[in-house]
Parts: sequence; structure tokens; C-alpha cells
Amino acid sequence: MNTPQNTPEKPLILLVDDMPANLHVLAAALKAEHRIKTATSGLAALDLADREDRPELILLDVMMPGMNGIEVLRHLREKPATRDIPVIFVSADTSEQSQLEGLELGADDYLTKPVVTTVLVARVRNLLQRKRAEAQLRLAAHVFEHSGEAILITDGKNRITEANPAFTRMTGYTLDEVRGQDPRILSSGRTSREEYAEMWQAIHQNGFWQGEMWDRCKNGAVYPKLMTISVVRNPQGDIDFFISSFADLSEQKANEEKIRHLAHHDALTGLPNRMHLQISLEQSLATARRDHAEVALMFIDLDRFKIINDTLGHNIGDGLLVEVARRLRDSVRDSDLVARLGGDEFVVALNDCDTANAAAHIAEKILANLAQPYQIEGNPLHTTPSIGISIYPHDGGDLDTLMKNADTAMYHAKAVGRNNFQFFSEGMNKSTNDRLMLENSLHQALQRDEFTVHYQPQADMRSGRLVGAEALIRWQHPERGMVSPLQFIPLAEENGMILAIGTWVLREVCRQIKAWREQGLNGLRFAVNLSPRQFRHEKLVDDILAILAEFEVPAAALELEITESSVMDNPDAAVLQLKKLNQHGLSIAIDDFGTGYSSLNYLKRFPVSKLKIDRSFVMDIPGDANDTAIAIAVIQLAKSLGLNVVAEGVETAEQQQFLEEQGCDFLQGYRYSKPLDAAAFAEFALARA
Ligand code: C2E
Ligand code: MG
Ligand code: MG
Repeated sequence: MNTPQNTPEKPLILLVDDMPANLHVLAAALKAEHRIKTATSGLAALDLADREDRPELILLDVMMPGMNGIEVLRHLREKPATRDIPVIFVSADTSEQSQLEGLELGADDYLTKPVVTTVLVARVRNLLQRKRAEAQLRLAAHVFEHSGEAILITDGKNRITEANPAFTRMTGYTLDEVRGQDPRILSSGRTSREEYAEMWQAIHQNGFWQGEMWDRCKNGAVYPKLMTISVVRNPQGDIDFFISSFADLSEQKANEEKIRHLAHHDALTGLPNRMHLQISLEQSLATARRDHAEVALMFIDLDRFKIINDTLGHNIGDGLLVEVARRLRDSVRDSDLVARLGGDEFVVALNDCDTANAAAHIAEKILANLAQPYQIEGNPLHTTPSIGISIYPHDGGDLDTLMKNADTAMYHAKAVGRNNFQFFSEGMNKSTNDRLMLENSLHQALQRDEFTVHYQPQADMRSGRLVGAEALIRWQHPERGMVSPLQFIPLAEENGMILAIGTWVLREVCRQIKAWREQGLNGLRFAVNLSPRQFRHEKLVDDILAILAEFEVPAAALELEITESSVMDNPDAAVLQLKKLNQHGLSIAIDDFGTGYSSLNYLKRFPVSKLKIDRSFVMDIPGDANDTAIAIAVIQLAKSLGLNVVAEGVETAEQQQFLEEQGCDFLQGYRYSKPLDAAAFAEFALARA
């Protein structure tokens, strides 16, 4: 029998009695403040007690047919779900025995029939209140025990009365060790008297304080903590307890420190980053301003780093940067600053260095250290830096100007051949602008059809017979006139345009060869220059084959000139690429031989057919003993490897005679012919056919 007016917020009470009349009396007394369920037998009571809508209290008749109240209670106490439901026995049996038995089993109270309504209501209310308070205490105790924060409770005289396990974990002190003591035993001595005074004032005034504080563990370690103190007052307003809870901030502080470090340092190399550099340079400049001292700023950029990164992968690139960073650090004094701006750009700042000499000295040291071979994950690597230097106060009074000018000087170092350092000078800004303008117009040159190809004839040294020509690109700039490939090829190599330009040259040369063959100009071999980036391109072989097929040009009519650096940066990949080219009948010449690393060891492995002695050696033959010796050595080497030798830049009869005597196979140079445009070359060739 359930009363219909049940509302959920009122506590549910289960009334159990075999006499419905008794149930009625009880329900009438309690229904104002409680929801009521009733049962007339022990079994029905057990069933209702174990429903989801669990009663908060059971009033249980002791004397019932079948299962009596005492048995019902025993069953309730056995089951975890019903174990904690408070029970009040209601019985006419006032014998002490049954009361004791009931209480022993865990009945919470005992009422005798006939029940006095007011007593019943009061008892029920008290019991429920007590049970709720107990539940809250249990919860509080649980929180106290299991809180991640240390909790310390002191009495009104601020003597420790309670401490939780987190407190012991954090401080190393057990409750027994600190009970009765003043919490100041935890103090590290770092907090000042004034700070404590402020804290106590806040506690007494507001009943609350929160702040950071340094304390000392039992083992002596000092740690930062975030602490909250609140007071518990009794009804008279006196302080009964102080409750302080605190969290160890060590980890958070360490993280903050780590974040601060990350914000100021480059994650890869651990060097200070741009932000750090700016902050410390501003300081250095301020000091230098005051002391009338100088500061040298070096911009360092690795030559050809992008190629290494692109061809060998970022892991290897990263490995190289880490090693470069280490060598840079080793090249300077501890007091000097080495920073990484990003990519392959580094900055070195030399403080209290009073002359440009010191900067030059360090720059030389950096060049030497960075040029040493690298071994990155088993790859032998080679890289060199270009360094630009600006000096405070001569090259700028503020950081921005100094940085910009060092950067400009660095670009000049690159422009004059890389692997060197340059001091900033005013003239550089102008030529940097020139470079930018040139780069802009280079983008349009292809579309506007401003390129042409000239052909410089090559002859057999002994017979003087024409054997072919080297194709040399020309740029007819609308305003500047003829721009030298020495000016724009390096630019195109750097910004990647070389791939499009290179393909254009190959197509143009093959188109021309086809046209000449149709005119009866046969049997000549045309050399096309490939820049390093072109040579490394994975589609190179496919592209060349497609172009040859398109213009029906046999592979034997084409020769490819590559430089030493094309092959030396990654010899293993180069060998593969060369083999592929060879397989398709394309011959390869090494251009400008003698100017680069000239690793003779590797030369043996490269399937090339020709060496071209660089013009710089030919120029001073036979006057300069050194150059002469190199020319002789190159020719000897080529012979011993079964390679042909071409001498380029041959201008005089003397040079020609000397080279011929040494056994050089081919010659190219003004002595024989300057580069000619296509029409002039055809005329030149037909005259000798
Ligand atoms: P290179 O391949 O070593 O070409 C030889 C350079 O020497 C040419 O300069 C040629 O005009 C010059 N030369 C030839 N004989 C003599 C001589 O007797 N005396 C003097 N003083 N110079 C002589 P050029 O045409 O200015 O080309 C310069 C460089 O530009 C070339 O050097 C080559 O590295 C590059 N280049 C030219 N055309 C192309 C091209 O189509 N693609 C690529 N990637 N590079 C090219
Ligand atoms: Mg060449
Ligand atoms: Mg050359």
C-alpha cells in the first residue's frame, strides 16, 4: 500500500507491521514530512528495502508471524545494499532481551507500542539528522584521507591536530611527528616576517588567505607551495580550527622554467633563438654605448644546405644543424653569443671585441671548423658557411640596422663564391638591390622569351677538326642588355628557377640540333651545362629522354657538363644518376675540373667520359708553375683513368701548343672561336664540313 502523494525530495520511510491498523497510525504521524511505503510481512519488507528507491529509514515491528523483526534486521544487515539503512524497532515487547538483541544486531533505536506520535516524529527526525551528519563526516574524512593536496589542521592556538597522508607525502612528516607543534616548523626561512604578518592579518580579518610560500621538507629540501588557509569558528565566534591546504608547486615551477627555456631556445640545437638573441643584443648594445665599445654581429648561412635537406632528408639535415651548432659554440668564447635564427641561419655576437680583427679571426676559425668533414648517421657530408659581419657602431647604431647589414654582407659572401666572410660596406646595399631587381625580372624572362643559346665550337687538338660545341645560355635583358650567366645562373639555382631554365635550354638545343641535321649538319656533339640542382633532380633522365625523342635527336649528339660539386655533395646518389644517364648513351663531362674538391678517389667510381680543365689553370700556362703543374696533373690523371680531356678558355697559340704536347684531346676557347649565335655557328660549321 503506497501513499499516492509521494514527492521525491522527502525522505522515504518503510513501515513494517503485520497489523494494517498499526501501519495506519504510524503513516498518519509521519506522512507530513516523509514519503511512506508499507509492508505487512518480513519478506515484503526485505523486498521493498532492496529496491532502487531505497528507504532512508525502516520502522520495524518485532513480533510478526513468519519472519519476525529480528530476523528481518539480520537479513538487512547481511546484504551490502541494505546494511546501512537505519532501523527503529517498534514493539509491544518491552523485554530487555529483545531490546538488547535488536540493538546488538544494529537497530538504531527502539520504540514501544503504543507509540506516542510526538515521540515518534522527534525520534525519526533526530535519527535521520544524525545519519546524514554521519554520512557527511564519512565523506569529509574520505576527502581528507585521499586528497591530493596536503591538509593540515591546527587548533585555535595554532597547534597541529590533524594532517592527512598527502601532507606526509609532501613534507615527509607523519602526524605523530608534528602533532601539537606550531606549523612554523615547516618554514624554510625564505618567507619574511612582514609576509607572515600580512598573512595573519588577512586570516583574522577575512577568515581566509591564499598565496605562494616556500617551505622545507623533513629531508631539508625546499619547495614552493600554493597554500590556502581558512578558519573554522564556533557559534560564539571564537576560532576553533585553522585549516590549511597546500599543493606542491615544484613541478609546475619546473614546467614554467622549461617553457621559459623553450620560448628562448631553439628546440633542435638548444641554442638561444631569435627572441633571446634580440633581448641579449639589446643589452650588449646598451653596454657598448655606455662604454664606447664595439660589438660584432655575424650572420652565418650554410651554403647549399637546402640541397642536403631536400636530397638526404630532414633527419640528416637536422643532424647536420646540430653538429654545426656545436662547432659554432666551440669556435667562440663562452661569453660570446651563438644563436639560431631558424633554418640554416645562425648568428654570432662578439661582445667587447674592440677591433674588426677579432671578428675576422673568429670568422676564419668558424670557416675552418665548419669545413671539416661531417659524419651524420653514416653519411659523409660537407658544408661550408657564408658569413656577413656588421660592427657596432660603424655599421649601425641599432639592432635592426646591424642585423640587416650583417645579412646584406652575408649575401655578398655568397655572391662572391660562398665559403668566405665579408664585412659590411655601404656599397653592398646597392648591389643587393640590383640582385633583387634581377631576380624579379628573371621570373619574367622565360615567358618573354628573353633567353637564347650561343654555341662555342670545340676542336680536336691534333687535327683542328670541329667536333662539336658547348651550348651557353644568353639573357637579353630588356633594359640591361646582355646579362652574363655567371650573374643569373647562381640566382636561378638558389631560387629553383634553374629547373625551368635548364629544361628550356635542353629543348632549345635539341630543337636546333634537329633543324641543323635537316640542313645536313651531322656528326657533331653538343654539350649542355647542368647545374647541381638540375643534375640531382629525380626526373632528369626521363625529361632528357623525352626531349631527345620529341626532336628525334640521338643520345650520342648530346653531352652533359656537370660540376664537381654536383657529384661530391652526395657521391652515392650521383653514381646512380650517372649510371642511368650512361645506360641511355648520354656522355658526361666534368666541368671546371680542378676548382672544387677534386676527390680523385671518387673520380674512379664515376662513369664519366671527359674532364674539362678549368679556364683559370689554362689562363697562366705556361708562365705560372703551379697552374701548369695542375694542368699537367689533370691530363695525366684523365689519361690514367681512360678519360678525354678538354681544355677550356684556350686563348693563345702558346697555350694550345703546350696542351697539345701534354696530350690534351680537345680545345675550346677564343683561340679557336668565341661563342657564336646559332646562325653564325651554322656558318662556322658548314665552312669546315
Ligand atoms: P662554363 O660552362 O665553364 O662555360 C665556359 C665559359 O667560359 C663561358 O662563359 C664561355 O663564354 C667562356 N669562355 C670560353 N672560352 C673562353 C676564352 O677563351 N676566354 C675567356 N675569357 N672566356 C672563355 P659564359 O658563357 O659566360 O658562361 C659562364 C658559365 O655560365 C658557364 O661556365 C656555365 O657554368 C654557366 N652556364 C652557361 N650556360 C649555361 C646553361 O645553359 N646552363 C647552366 N646550368 N649553366 C650555364
Ligand atoms: Mg660548361
Ligand atoms: Mg667550365
